[in-house]
Amino acid sequence: MSSALNSDQATACVDPHTGNEKISSAETEQCTPETSEQHVDDDSCCTTTSDSSNHLKEEPSLRKRLLVKSEASSKPEDDMLASVAEDSLLNENLENTEGSFLNVPSKCAEQAEEFVKKVWAAGWNVVHFHSLPEWLKDNEFLLRGHREPTNSFKACFKSIFRIHTETGNIWTHLLGMIAFLVIAAYFLTRPSFEIRWEDKVVFSAFFLGAILCLGFSWVFHTVYCHSERVGRFFHKLDYCGIALLTIGSFVPWLYYSFYCRLEPKITYLSLILFLGTLCIGVSMWDKFAQPHFRPFRAGVFVCLGLSGVIPAMHYVITDGFWHAFNFAAMGWLVLMALLYIVGAVIYAARIPERIFPGKCDIVFQSHQIFHVFVLAAAFVHYHGISEIANYRLTLGECVARDIEQ
Ligand SMILES: [Zn+2]
Repeated sequence: MSSALNSDQATACVDPHTGNEKISSAETEQCTPETSEQHVDDDSCCTTTSDSSNHLKEEPSLRKRLLVKSEASSKPEDDMLASVAEDSLLNENLENTEGSFLNVPSKCAEQAEEFVKKVWAAGWNVVHFHSLPEWLKDNEFLLRGHREPTNSFKACFKSIFRIHTETGNIWTHLLGMIAFLVIAAYFLTRPSFEIRWEDKVVFSAFFLGAILCLGFSWVFHTVYCHSERVGRFFHKLDYCGIALLTIGSFVPWLYYSFYCRLEPKITYLSLILFLGTLCIGVSMWDKFAQPHFRPFRAGVFVCLGLSGVIPAMHYVITDGFWHAFNFAAMGWLVLMALLYIVGAVIYAARIPERIFPGKCDIVFQSHQIFHVFVLAAAFVHYHGISEIANYRLTLGECVARDIEQ
């Protein structure tokens, strides 16, 4: 058995070009099970780097192993083969000692490249737009780098760390969500003499809206390619997140803007809650997910956003334009609205990928720009409501004149 094995190995080690029995260390490693461990060691570039001098130290063990092998062999040609192998190994080890220091960086780079290629090929595949099923065909201007349906949440979540058309969409809102979690944790853990509990409750509405919106968004973009059913469900949640962020943004703004005016405060808060709930209902209803209801769905969301114009006008009329911009952070709110509108227009128009089809597959596509605008708008709003709250709280308790307005 042992003899037959050695004989096979000897055949496998004949140089295919010259026909000679050329036995280098690498070839010996490929051919013989005994030296395959050595091959694994050499695969690590770090081992090669630190132990290039160890080739000489390893000589006795190599010699020993080859001698053991040759003793086990009953054929004289096997003994000769072992001897040739031994000489070749020793010569090559000596040569390697001199050259290996110079070869290390390129060898490392080659091995790293090979490793990345293997991982990429083994666990990941992206396809052309035309290879996608109909339900995944959302943007025909993004040509390459699409994920295929996975039917696996695990595969979907692993794809967060891969490069494809959704990577930018996932990370913009995942990092945004983490940022708001950190800000919320800092804000809510301030001592009560610094931030009152009622202010924490009011700001919590905004934090909750922002975190849920960004959270639903990145999760939707992650699992969008799972299957049609899962993709559709999380798409609904994505829409709900927009409604929740809008409600959460309105609550502190209305609370501090109409701080001492109970009637308009209750009226406007009720209005935004009603419209927001309507939006959530519309988003979750399967019937309205159909394409011909898209204008209606968009209309409800536009109404939700534009409903902010009514309390804003109310404030300008009662307190004046100058006051609204200087003390009620109206400038920040206008900037926030502009960011949302410009982001939505870029998204709807699919610019710039419409102009450069196939050039924005991975970065700079319209949806990513829209995501960044949403994130910027949320930060601007946070800054705005912080200013209104600070101003309001410096005025002290409500006086009779404020309450009558
Ligand atoms: Zn999105």
